[in-house]
Amino acid sequence: MNAASSLLAPIAKRLVGKVALITGGASGIGESTARLFAEHGAKVINADVQDELGFLVSQDKSINGAISHVHCDVTSESDVQNAVNTAVSKHGKLDIMFNNAGCIGQNKASILDHEQKDYKTVFDVNVLGSFLGAKQAAKVMSPAKRGTFLFTASCVTQSHGLASHSYPASKHAVVGLTKNLCVELGQYRIRVNCISPYGAATPLFLKGMGIEKKEKAEEILSSAANLKGPVLEAGDLAEATLFLAREESKYVSGLNLVMDGGYSATNVAFTKTIQKFYT
Ligand code: NAD
Repeated sequence: MNAASSLLAPIAKRLVGKVALITGGASGIGESTARLFAEHGAKVINADVQDELGFLVSQDKSINGAISHVHCDVTSESDVQNAVNTAVSKHGKLDIMFNNAGCIGQNKASILDHEQKDYKTVFDVNVLGSFLGAKQAAKVMSPAKRGTFLFTASCVTQSHGLASHSYPASKHAVVGLTKNLCVELGQYRIRVNCISPYGAATPLFLKGMGIEKKEKAEEILSSAANLKGPVLEAGDLAEATLFLAREESKYVSGLNLVMDGGYSATNVAFTKTIQKFYT
């Protein structure tokens, strides 16, 4: 790239000609990513259980028909296979598989209150769903010898005690799956990465915390955050996903991109105790 063309780089569309499948694309991080990918020239298939919301996103005139919705419960292998097949039959290929659908489960602090049923639901959506997405996408992407897999894990893989046990356990499994797939799929030129967000006030977060208002959730998140000022939003996570998906990141694989504003880098307990001691 010469000096003149490098001046154009910041406005370039990063995903022209790419086809992406996004699970959990009807809401929150998935929806923001679908919209951003579409803005960058990709064709997107959103696979979600929320059909009404999914169709609303796909019918939004501003995205010019670049996003389609397909009903998909990620815990059903035939649904996931159908979503992959839809991407291939509609657009001829699949370049980006974003396994993002997730569920947080019950908000129970103690293991004594944890129900097996809840644990199973969380693992089915977060781990089995990611596994099935990877398996079905690998069927078409490995022979094509190209592509990128993305997963949404969580900052609970870095900082512990933030959510009920099943959720961090499931998200650790997602990071494990990311790294193991990176090893197998490298030979097919497929890159595999995940993002691990701090809290963003999406419907999943509000439900998990039992908070109704987005503003209240953001106030709590900001007050607990390490990085003061900016508030983490679904759109910021979409940008991180775009970074991992685009060709410019051609040698990035096996990465868990932690988007927590440094939350996991610090523990303020000692500082607070010392302050109390001297006052
Ligand atoms: P969200 O509720 O806005 O979106 C989640 C989407 O997943 C919804 O559209 C929902 O319908 C879909 N979904 C749930 N179960 C499904 C299933 N069985 N099959 C298909 N789709 C299903 O929440 P979000 O925050 O955007 O969540 C996206 C991902 O981000 C999840 O994996 C979540 O665990 C992860 N995450 C979120 C946060 C946060 O603070 N928001 C933090 C860390 C990780």
